[in-house]
Amino acid sequence: MSELSIEATQAILQDVFGRCTFRLWHPTREDWTAEDPRDQVEQAPTPAADLVAVDHRQSPADRLAAIERDLGVCERCILCRERRNIVFGTGNPDADLLIIGEAPGEQEDAQGVPFVGASGLKLDAMLQNVLGLAREEVYILNVVKCRPPRNRNPNADELESCLPFLHRQVASVSPKVILLMGTVALKSLFETNQGITRNRGKWRSYNDIPVMPTFHPAFLLHNKEKKNVRLVWQDLVDLRDRMDELGIDRAPIESRP
Ligand code: SF4
Repeated sequence: MSELSIEATQAILQDVFGRCTFRLWHPTREDWTAEDPRDQVEQAPTPAADLVAVDHRQSPADRLAAIERDLGVCERCILCRERRNIVFGTGNPDADLLIIGEAPGEQEDAQGVPFVGASGLKLDAMLQNVLGLAREEVYILNVVKCRPPRNRNPNADELESCLPFLHRQVASVSPKVILLMGTVALKSLFETNQGITRNRGKWRSYNDIPVMPTFHPAFLLHNKEKKNVRLVWQDLVDLRDRMDELGIDRAPIESRP
């Protein structure tokens, strides 16, 4: 039996299905030579050089300890008035994966640790079940270190006061990849007005570090639609693939309970 050309097949399909329009895809030269779309990612504004200068004679743990000393009993913005604890960051200072959240909530404020309570448990499950990592293997922090009253979003002044410490923390840990969780984190680091819904799942870059933005675990707890869970799962699988490309060590998922 002779093979039909693409044009003949298209004509038959259009004849059979009437008003439906078909375009049979077959790769063109441009398709084969197209660059990896990850090469055209949004770049974060470059942080000031003095914030990201790293003393390589110090260990990441010592560098973080120096930043925490500089922060001190911080009163640089009004969020100091109602906070119970400064929530600096937690985890492995040598981590390849850095997770950036938004601002401490009630539980974080009470304990002085980011991502605890229900959101923390959700994050732990994501890390373990999709990435094969325990919380202790990554470094976790927020864009602001003190809880905004009634969990409102931090305002521009508060972000401006606190972000230099975030830039220094990222430079000190020097991760290979960043997971950015939530709209506040996205807007703060990338100085954009766009929210996370339109931007989750699209690779970005901060100071030459690949960044995967996704929904915050708290959003998943309040919006239990399966669609949102599936989207975060997709983002984490994409992140996992990138981690494997970068040679980041993690346990095989199969070995996890
Ligand atoms: S939010 Fe940041 S800048 Fe404001 S008081 Fe807390 S640590 Fe200081």
